[in-house]
Amino acid sequence: MLNRLAEVQTLDLELDGLEQERGQVPQELLEAEEKRRGLEQTIELRSQERDELRRAVNANELELKSMEERRRNAAAAAVRASSAKEASQYQNQELQFGTRVQELEEDTLPLMESFDRLDQEVQALEQELAELLPQLEALKQAEEERVAAVDRKVAEVKRARDELAASIDAPLLKQYDLVRRSRRGVGLAEVVANATCSGCNVRLPLHVVQKARKGQGITRCPSCGRILWYKE
Ligand SMILES: [Zn+2]
Repeated sequence: MLNRLAEVQTLDLELDGLEQERGQVPQELLEAEEKRRGLEQTIELRSQERDELRRAVNANELELKSMEERRRNAAAAAVRASSAKEASQYQNQELQFGTRVQELEEDTLPLMESFDRLDQEVQALEQELAELLPQLEALKQAEEERVAAVDRKVAEVKRARDELAASIDAPLLKQYDLVRRSRRGVGLAEVVANATCSGCNVRLPLHVVQKARKGQGITRCPSCGRILWYKE
């Protein structure tokens, strides 16, 4: 009976291993996902900065147009002026508008340069993201296949386990399950070196060893509670 329980335990431990294996997502996939998140965030930030610059440039260009028009109007009015004084007033206006036009042109140039730089940066990042996405997709696909293969193996081992477990006395199996749950997956321990529990390495009292050796009923280690198996 305990031989079979030992086989059940071997399969249970295999299932534990598979469960752990299932959760181990490849580093490469984690890194690729991290990289995608980083790229998307940076693209969003840089795009916002770029769009703000675009708006600033647009506002300057609008004002520039208006100032140029007012300068032209002042120049035309100066020509049509009826007196030298009036002409001089319009010429002054023309100069003022001209100064503002120059200021605006000087302000706009660095903004446009920054805009171009950011726009190129965003394009390069978008290119990088576009190249990453198919790689990420392939890694995800491979991961799905890996997990599916583990799941198939789990189902197979589980079937064998349940089949084997069905031939074991229910109370023994129940106790084994309980102990196993509280003892890191190992519910059945061998008596090794004549009198030591292989589960906790404690030396067993003689009467416990004798009881386990007889193999009648369930003998448990007084120290760790595992079911003891004396293998002849
Ligand atoms: Zn023990």
